Amino acid sequence: MKKILIIGTGGTIASGNMGEGLTPIMNAEQLLNFVPAVKKICRVECIQPFCMDSTNICPEHWVQLAVLLHRQYDQYDGFVICHGTDTMAYTAAALSYLVQGAKKPIILTGAQKPISFDSTDSRVNLTDAVICASSDRLHGVMVVFNGKVIQGTRACKTNSKSYAAFSSINYPYLGVLRDGRLFPYIENAYLDKPVFTDQLDSRVALLKLIPGTKSSLVSFMLEQNDGLIIEAFGVGGLPDYAGNDLLSVIEDGVKNGKTVVLTTQVQNEGSDIRVYQVGYRAYRCPRILEAFDMTTEAVCAKLMWILARTDDMERIQKLFYTPVSNDIFDYS
Ligand code: ASP
Repeated sequence: MKKILIIGTGGTIASGNMGEGLTPIMNAEQLLNFVPAVKKICRVECIQPFCMDSTNICPEHWVQLAVLLHRQYDQYDGFVICHGTDTMAYTAAALSYLVQGAKKPIILTGAQKPISFDSTDSRVNLTDAVICASSDRLHGVMVVFNGKVIQGTRACKTNSKSYAAFSSINYPYLGVLRDGRLFPYIENAYLDKPVFTDQLDSRVALLKLIPGTKSSLVSFMLEQNDGLIIEAFGVGGLPDYAGNDLLSVIEDGVKNGKTVVLTTQVQNEGSDIRVYQVGYRAYRCPRILEAFDMTTEAVCAKLMWILARTDDMERIQKLFYTPVSNDIFDYS
């Protein structure tokens, strides 16, 4: 029998109503009491590094989880991280950079309804996650939710209430689960030994443009951070009307060593800043990066991972466009 480590971190799956809304109260051991059949699939052990609503999870927690996985990696055949859904896609992306090339499955799951509720998705999701963590055909960091197996760098929370909370963005599902059976579609590549990292630069920010966004806001955000991701409109462009030229502010920032990534606020199909003149001007500036088909969650995590390693622009560019865990289509 495979040996699986269940890592509890909180979230709705572990929550109860304490009078002022749901709050996580259960540890991983207690979650397992609701799915006794799991013991027939594998041997399980539990660990609880923290217990919180994922709203409060920060880059330091991602590093904490990566360090824990590093320490426990050789002792187990697979890992299940029970996590709140709200920031699960960020954690999945971050772990995809902090733990690269793992052969063993590292599965994130959670639920839209607490495990103690009569009507809940928790029990199916947790059981499915354990099935995936015990599989020989799944490798690396993934989200398992509502019968879907999603690459960690491609997950996005696209429904705030229904059980189908997560989608795979610009990438196929790695597999599906039906009635407790896994149908794996895609087998990820892996390394002989995974590469673990415990450094992130959290001075990365995200700005979603609205019509009329002031260049002074961009310049403030550039001052405060090492990296800035700008979610522009459509395939990507920057407002340049009189007195509000975002591009010149960005170019100044880039000259001062800041890293800027242009992406789109449209969920599917990615950016292509060469299509319109409002984007082409940015395209001509080789130091502005473009996210193409990446999710915003993956761009945030990848920038934090890259900027912790180097401040050399050429190296940043090279690392950014080099695919990690299928996060970006290989344009080279
Ligand atoms: N607020 C919760 C969390 O992210 C939502 C959930 O788990 O579904 O922790």
